[in-house]
Amino acid sequence: MNIHEYQAKAVLAKYGVAVPKGHAAFTADEAVEGAKELGGPVWVVKAQIHAGGRGKAGGVKVVKSVDDVRKEAERLLGSILVTHQTGPEGKQVNRLYIEEGSSIERELYLSILVDRATSRVSFIISTEGGMDIEEVAHKTPEKILTFDVDPASGISSFHGRKVAFALGLTGGQVADCVQLIDKLYDAFVSEDMSQLEINPLVVTGEGNLVCLDAKINFDSNALYRHKDIVELRDLTEEDPAEVEASKYDLSYIKLDGKIGCMVNGAGLAMATMDIIKLYGSEPANFLDVGGGATKEKVTAAFKIILSDPNVEGILVNIFGGIMRCDIIAEGVIAAARELALKVPLVVRLEGTNVELGKKIMAESGLPIISADNLADAAEKIVKAVKEAA
Ligand code: GDP
Ligand code: MN
Repeated sequence: MNIHEYQAKAVLAKYGVAVPKGHAAFTADEAVEGAKELGGPVWVVKAQIHAGGRGKAGGVKVVKSVDDVRKEAERLLGSILVTHQTGPEGKQVNRLYIEEGSSIERELYLSILVDRATSRVSFIISTEGGMDIEEVAHKTPEKILTFDVDPASGISSFHGRKVAFALGLTGGQVADCVQLIDKLYDAFVSEDMSQLEINPLVVTGEGNLVCLDAKINFDSNALYRHKDIVELRDLTEEDPAEVEASKYDLSYIKLDGKIGCMVNGAGLAMATMDIIKLYGSEPANFLDVGGGATKEKVTAAFKIILSDPNVEGILVNIFGGIMRCDIIAEGVIAAARELALKVPLVVRLEGTNVELGKKIMAESGLPIISADNLADAAEKIVKAVKEAA
C-alpha cells in the first residue's frame, strides 16, 4: 500500500526524523491558511499524488508570497499532472502539501527496501539526489552504494558512518547521519515498510540533514498490525476496479489485452494468461477468484471484468477441487443472465462433478462455449473474439 508524501513525512516525524514543517490542503483557502501559519518567507506548494517526477512536471513550486501560494494552489487543484511515472493519462491533483522552503546545499539519495535476493533490509545511497535513480544506476553505477543489514545484529552506528562517508559528510553531520540512519531503520522495521525512498535527502544551507521528499510503500500482508496506517489509504489514487475487487477478496490486476480471465488459483491464472498469448491474443486482466468462490463472488468478478471497455470475450477456467463444478456452473449462468452478457464466453471446468456442471451450462440456453482443456479453451475464446469483431 502507498501513501502520500505528507503522510509519509508525518510517519517519519514520529520516529524523530527531520522533515520540513508543512500543512496538507484540499482547497486553495486551506493552502493559504497553512502558508500563513508557516510564516514564510519561502513556501513550497507540492501536488500530492501517488507518483514521483512531480518536480519536472510542474507539481512542485517554490514561491515567495502568500498570493503566489494561492495562485499555484488554484492552478494545481483539480488539474491533471502527467509525470514520467503516471503514464500518459496522468493523475488528478486533489490534495496539496504546503511546506516551509528549505535552502538546499546538496541533494542526496537514500532508500531502504527489502531485498529478495538476500532476504534482508537493504540500503541504497547516492550523492546524486533529486534525479531519477534508475538513470544514475544505468549511467554512473559507481555513484551508488548498497549494503544490507544483518537482522540478527540490526542497525549499528558503523552503518550510519558508512553512509556518511559515502555521501561526503563531515564534522557534526556524521553524527547526525548515524542518528538518521538509526531512526529510518527503526521506522522501516516497526511500520512493516517494503520501501522507503528519500529523494532528495538534503544538506541545508545551515548544514542540517533534512528529508525533503518521502515515499513509503507498506507490506500489505502486515497491514493488519497497523490500523493507523490503513486509515491513510487514499482510494482515489487506486484503480477503481482493483478497489472493487479487494472488497470481494478477489485478486484482480488490470492489463492491456482484450480477453477477460476468471480463474481460481494464481498459478492457474498465470498459465491461462500464458496460453491466451500462445494462441495469439492478450489477457485483459489477471483475476484469481480464490478457492471458495461463491455465486456472489463469481458475479462480482464478471462485473469487474466487464467494467473494462477493452474486454471482447471472457475465458473462465476453473478447477473444482474443494468447490464443485455444478456450483460454479450455476454461478456463471446467474452472472451471465444478470449482466445480459454480450461478449463470447468460453468456460473450461475440470474436477468434482464436472459432467453435471457441463450439463447445467448446456441446458441453460445461454451461448456458453464449453471447452475440455486449457489449450482448447484458449483456442476457442481467441477464435470467438475474432469472429465477433
Ligand atoms: P518529485 O519530483 O515528485 O520527486 O518531488 P520532490 O519532492 O523530490 O521535489 C522535486 C525537487 O523540487 C527537489 O529535488 C528539489 O530540487 C525541489 N524542492 C523541493 N522542495 C524544495 C524547497 O523547499 N526548496 C527548494 N529550493 N527546492 C525544493
Ligand atoms: Mn523526489
